[in-house]
Formats: sequence, structure tokens, C-alpha cells
Amino acid sequence: MATQPQDSLVKVSSEVVGCTKCRLCETRRNAVPGEGLESSKVIFVGEAPGEQEDAQGRPFVGAAGKLLNELLASVGLRREDVYITNVVKCRPPKNRPPRKDETTACRPYLDRQINLITPQIICPMGNSAIHSLMDSDKSVTELHGMPFEIGKITFFPMYHPAAALYTFQLRKVMEEDFKTLKGLLNALK
Ligand code: URA
Ligand code: SF4
Repeated sequence: MATQPQDSLVKVSSEVVGCTKCRLCETRRNAVPGEGLESSKVIFVGEAPGEQEDAQGRPFVGAAGKLLNELLASVGLRREDVYITNVVKCRPPKNRPPRKDETTACRPYLDRQINLITPQIICPMGNSAIHSLMDSDKSVTELHGMPFEIGKITFFPMYHPAAALYTFQLRKVMEEDFKTLKGLLNALK
């Protein structure tokens, strides 16, 4: 999808906030468009907002977000240096996985964000984002920590930070993957 000349991240966010394109608008408190640096070379994409995100209207501000902040900091990055969003912009009830029709309805917002930011690297975090963005049915266990060139963009799949909250050993794996990502970022022109 080509970027329309008049499109902007602010426009995307305001449309998301008022969006009623799928049933998730009925149960959300706040839609969560995403946030970060418009000129970021990397976008992190999670699955969907959770309870804290729904309460605050901001992505990754709960326990998984705290871990994401720490992982970014471990390689000298801050949230403000990158762009963070989700495949689906409204919280599914009781954090159930987003349904296919919800992902499909929401997808144009993510595509517009990607077109506007023009990142060189996209990090889908967890199976949901990997399957949605990379058109692959392989699991994060097989794909994490490796770069895949798709068109002009490098996809760098990662575990979802929430997974490392439940399985402590994954934190070390994620730290290694963030080091690899930092190397890819440093090598960009
Ligand atoms: N999990 C996600 O996938 N996204 C968030 O924004 C928070 C938790
Ligand atoms: Fe709209 Fe996406 Fe929210 Fe559904 S999840 S109401 S498509 S913003």
C-alpha cells in the first residue's frame, strides 16, 4: 500500500482512537495506536494491548513493557528511540488471542504506520506478530534472533517479552537477541 501524501502518524492514531471497525471497540477502554520515534529505523510489534495498555492507551506499559524497556536499555536504547505498536490496537476481552477478522480489520493501521516510518528493521515479537507480519507458520522458537530479508525490510523475529516473564531462561535468550539486533542497527547506513 503506497503512503497517501496527506497521511501522518497523528492521523493514524486519531483514526485508531475512534475506530469501530471490529467488535473489540465494544469492550476496550482506550485504543492503543502505538508510540515512539517517527524516524525510527526499527519497529517493535506485539500482539495486542493488555490490561494496563487498555487503561493507559499506551503500548507495553505493564509488566511485559517493563521488561521490554530493560531489554532496550541493555543495548543502550530507550523507548523514545524506537517505535512500539501492536498488530491489533484494542485489547481483546480477558486477553484472549485476537481473532482473524479482528486482525484483518486492524491491519491497515499497522501497514500505514510501517509506510510512514519506513523502518529498515521490523521486530515481530511472539508468534502472533510473526505469523501476521512474516506470512510464516513457523514458531518463534525456530525463527527468533535471525534476520530475514523480505523486500527492502529486514524482519528480526523475537520472543514476546511476556514469554520471558513466565520462563526465566528466555530472558537470557532475549538479551542475546537484542545484542544481535543492536549489531544489525549499527550496521545500517
Ligand atoms: N502485550 C502486547 O502484545 N502488547 C502490549 O502492548 C502489551 C502486552
Ligand atoms: Fe479498530 Fe483495530 Fe480497534 Fe478493531 S482492534 S476497533 S480494527 S482499532
